[in-house]
Amino acid sequence: MICITFKKQHTRNNAILTFLTLFLARAHSVRPTVAVIGGGIAGLSCAEKLSQQYFDVTVFDTGRLRPGGRCASRWPGDRPKEGDPSLLSQYRFDHAAQAISVPPSFVKFQNQVKEWESRGVLRQFTNGSVYQINGAQPPTPLSSDHPLYFAPNGMNAIAMDLVASRKYTLQHDVWVSPSNGVKWIEKSQKWRVQAKGEVRGYFDYLIIAHNGKCADRLMSSSPAKEIHSLLRVNFAPSVPANGGNRMTLGSIYSLSFCLKSPSILSKTLPDSFVAGFISENADLGFLTCQSGKLAQSDTAHEVWTILSTPKFAKRHKAPQEFMPEETVEEVSTLLLVSLGDLLSIAPESLLAEVVDRRLQLWGAAIPMNVWRSKDEGFLYDCKHKVGVCGDWLLVPSIAGAWTSGRQLADYMVEAKGDLKKDVGLRGRFVRSTSSHRLGITSASKAPECIKA
Ligand SMILES: Cc1cc2nc3c(=O)[nH]c(=O)nc-3n(C[C@H](O)[C@H](O)[C@H](O)COP(=O)(O)OP(=O)(O)OC[C@H]3O[C@@H](n4cnc5c(N)ncnc54)[C@H](O)[C@@H]3O)c2cc1C
Repeated sequence: MICITFKKQHTRNNAILTFLTLFLARAHSVRPTVAVIGGGIAGLSCAEKLSQQYFDVTVFDTGRLRPGGRCASRWPGDRPKEGDPSLLSQYRFDHAAQAISVPPSFVKFQNQVKEWESRGVLRQFTNGSVYQINGAQPPTPLSSDHPLYFAPNGMNAIAMDLVASRKYTLQHDVWVSPSNGVKWIEKSQKWRVQAKGEVRGYFDYLIIAHNGKCADRLMSSSPAKEIHSLLRVNFAPSVPANGGNRMTLGSIYSLSFCLKSPSILSKTLPDSFVAGFISENADLGFLTCQSGKLAQSDTAHEVWTILSTPKFAKRHKAPQEFMPEETVEEVSTLLLVSLGDLLSIAPESLLAEVVDRRLQLWGAAIPMNVWRSKDEGFLYDCKHKVGVCGDWLLVPSIAGAWTSGRQLADYMVEAKGDLKKDVGLRGRFVRSTSSHRLGITSASKAPECIKA
């Protein structure tokens, strides 16, 4: 008798379990699916919001070590691309974005920054540690109405924070090939995403969260012609005063190098120096003392990073992925010599102190123009269910990228999949006024600001 009752109970529990499993699987599968191509700050901010509400999201990103795109850092222990680990690989450094400013009208980003600050992901630069360097005068502390922030563990920590509590799938070290990576399937009204010769899924929505040659080619044979026409790209260090008629990206060289501590640079610059905007210089745009900015476990060496101007990068154009050794040598030397000249240090003394260095070319570093439309911040084509987000749709900065991704997600979440309106497709390119300062708010002027 006991045995029969137990069996009945067991069968009923099993049936309930099966029902629940099927119900949950069904509930899960009816969430509209979204493929986000690009795991930079824009793609991650968009994916985070979409996946919290209503959508089933997969992010594809090329990042070999981690996602984050141009919000990139090297951390001790990172697997080197090739060869033996160098001295530099024992240190932490940011090799693209260096600082974050919060445009006053970006209220949601302000709240996100406050939240990051409360958890120690971001910290404000201390007063008087960020300088303005203009060769004619000694470096002067930047007087800014707006605080500047940095991530004490390196800028990539921001991307990793967006990934940490994710409710979406992340496929990194995955390049969605521009030749056949995405295909619109008219019959099912879905996007097929393919990478490394494998179909990765069929998605209700596609989000392009990157720009440059890749995005241009990826969408070139899709039926979303208006989206593609806005993704077409030029590479140049400047644009005409009217903004030009195509997205234009400038390139930047980033040189990180190790010097024995205390170095000639720290002896020359003020003790409080951590970072400096370099103005009116043909070659150099920004200088950071990574050892002053980031937590390092070893203080035997100092790590510094110089960012070039887009004009310098154009003059010394090279293939980004396979830079010839002579170009690496020539460009690194030229940047160090320019830095010596700027700070009135004999260049040979500076060169003699360099014990290790790493040069990177960011080919699609910074938008020289931004797309302005009535509906600011992102693009959406309702017929083909494709959205676009990224810094080039607002301000060329982390603030712009995060906000653009969030605005696209807010739009999709509010419409709950009933997206019947094109957004942002009518407008024009305008010259970016802050691109020469990496999108960072200047001391006195408001950034190129728009509602967000
Ligand atoms: C040298 C440098 C210094 C900078 N300094 C600052 C600064 O100090 N402060 C600041 O606010 N901003 C700075 N910026 C700008 C800032 O980094 C960018 O505005 C911001 O990170 C852009 O984010 P995003 O998500 O729009 O694009 P990205 O960061 O470019 O993200 C796009 C992602 O998509 C991936 N991807 C591309 N194609 C594919 C594909 N086919 N398949 C899969 N993945 C793909 C890319 O690898 C990348 O990870 C700097 C930029 C550079 C280059």
